[in-house]
Amino acid sequence: MRWTERQQALLGAMQVRPWPAGGVLPVATAPGSVAPAPAPVPVPVPVPAAAPLAAPPPVDTAVRTLDWPALQAAVAACRACDLCEGRRQTVFGVGDPKASVMLVGEAPGEQEDIQGEPFVGAAGQLLDQILAALGLARGQVYIANTLKCRPPRNRNPQPAELAQCAPFLTRQIELVAPRVIVAMGRFAIDQLLASDAPIGRLRGQVHRWREVPVVVTYHPAYLLRQPADKAKAWADWCLALSLVNDDTTS
Ligand code: SF4
Repeated sequence: MRWTERQQALLGAMQVRPWPAGGVLPVATAPGSVAPAPAPVPVPVPVPAAAPLAAPPPVDTAVRTLDWPALQAAVAACRACDLCEGRRQTVFGVGDPKASVMLVGEAPGEQEDIQGEPFVGAAGQLLDQILAALGLARGQVYIANTLKCRPPRNRNPQPAELAQCAPFLTRQIELVAPRVIVAMGRFAIDQLLASDAPIGRLRGQVHRWREVPVVVTYHPAYLLRQPADKAKAWADWCLALSLVNDDTTS
C-alpha cells in the first residue's frame, strides 16, 4: 500500500506512522381483621402472587426479509427493549448501502441520539480521520451500531438488549453484503464473533461472520483515551483494507 502526501499528513495528525509500503500483516446475554381491645392484632392474610412482568415484544422474525426502507421503519418503530423509553430517536446506520467495507460500533452516545447518525462526536471525528487516511470518505463505507438506541448515561449495553437488537444488525449486514467487516470495540466483537476473548488476542487475524471476513480493532472512543494504541488500530485498518481486494477472502 502506498500513501499519498495527504494520507501521510493525516496519519501524522493522528500521530501514526504509515504502514510500510508492501508490508504484510498476519491473517489468520389487608390488612387482616382487627382483634378487639386491648391491643389490635393484625391477622396476616395471603398476599396474591405478583403478576409476572409483561415481556417486551420480540423483534419480528420477519426482519430477515425486509428491504432497506422497511428495515429502517421497523427500527424506528421498535419497542422490543427498554432502551426505547429513553431515546430521542433511533440511530439506524449511514453510508453506502452497498459498501465493500462495513464498520460495526457499539451503541449510540448523546450526540448520536441527538443527530440520529452513528459516530458524530469526538470518536466519530477520529474515525473520519482514519478513513480519510485510508483514502475513504464516510459515504464510501457503511457504519452501523450493535444497538440502535442510546443506553441511559452511556452505560454498557446489556446482553438482553443486544440479543433483542441483533436481528437488525444481521439484516443490515445481509443487505450491504460487504467484503469485509471491521468490528470496533468489545460489544461489536461479542455480537459478531460470540467471543469474549480480549481484543488484544483477537487482533491481527481474519475472523468470519458467516462467510464475511471480520477484522477486530479498538473503538475510536478507546483510542481517544489510549492514543498509544493508535498504531495498533492503524495496522488493523490496513489489514481490513487489504482484504477488500483480496479475491482469496471471498
Ligand atoms: S435498542 Fe434495538 S431492540 Fe431495543 S428498542 Fe432500540 S431498536 Fe429495538
